[in-house]
Amino acid sequence: MATHKKPAAHSAANSRTASARQKRIAQANRHLLIGVLLMLLAVALIVVIIVLCVRGGGKKPADTSSPEASSAFAESSETPSEPDESSAPELSEVEYSEDPFSRYTYEYQIDITPYLDYIDPRDVMECVFLVNPTQTPAADFVPADLVDCVHTRKDGRAMQKLRLNAEMALEAFLKEGLTCGAVTNVTVTSAYRSYSYQAQLFETYCQQHQYKFKTREECEAYVLTFSTKPGTSEHQSGLCCDMHNLGSAEQSFAKKPEAKWLAENCWKFGFILRYPADKEDITKIIYEPWHFRFVGRFAATEMHELGMCLEEYIAYKGLE
Ligand SMILES: [Zn+2]
Repeated sequence: MATHKKPAAHSAANSRTASARQKRIAQANRHLLIGVLLMLLAVALIVVIIVLCVRGGGKKPADTSSPEASSAFAESSETPSEPDESSAPELSEVEYSEDPFSRYTYEYQIDITPYLDYIDPRDVMECVFLVNPTQTPAADFVPADLVDCVHTRKDGRAMQKLRLNAEMALEAFLKEGLTCGAVTNVTVTSAYRSYSYQAQLFETYCQQHQYKFKTREECEAYVLTFSTKPGTSEHQSGLCCDMHNLGSAEQSFAKKPEAKWLAENCWKFGFILRYPADKEDITKIIYEPWHFRFVGRFAATEMHELGMCLEEYIAYKGLE
């Protein structure tokens, strides 16, 4: 009997071994299947992520009522778009969709549409640079696109000049002031100044005040408190102007309601009050409530929001 039992036991053992092997094979197959499924899932996820990235990278500003405006900031990207004149906004209200002011809204009393291409230079950082004693334009530098400044004070002085973008932005700015009834009699007393004119001006001041000092150096140091040496004046850029409604530029202008309106609203037109009272230690120039500098609306808006002067903003943007 034992001899009959032995083969039976052996067969049962073989059967268990075969069963175990089959189980292992089935288990291995399951693992393989799960592995393949996980890989497919991972590939699908990667494809989805790539598609989302590609769409996000080419994202256009969200729909706004103003195609001109939405293209304005986007124009700094590699695919500039021409303003669509057939679909001008009904309201003088502009919304930008690019960061950092993705939901920013500008409001104007005037129709800003004809001025948008000027207050938003194609390169939004084109006009963001310093002119000071250490960063000077060449002596023979003359901006190529100087035009007449229509708001030049009509008292016999020469017609002042500004670069085209700055002039058109200034026209919009003062038209808005007039429409609001806030600024009716502010005129431009000085805009672009050539190197030679600034040299002549500086020399005239030195001669006028030399009698007060023993040396030329002492006299120049004094004159530098209210004027600049040729080549170091921002006026050579053609992007700034002095404007007020006084006989001459004085800090008392700041007390006038016109000066307050200009300072509070200039950024909407791409201008900054270049030498604010609370930034004298940074600009190294005394408070000049009459001196406005065009930088373009994007930069002016950022500076307004950040509470920065041009020196601070240039450092913030890493443009030094
Ligand atoms: Zn000035």
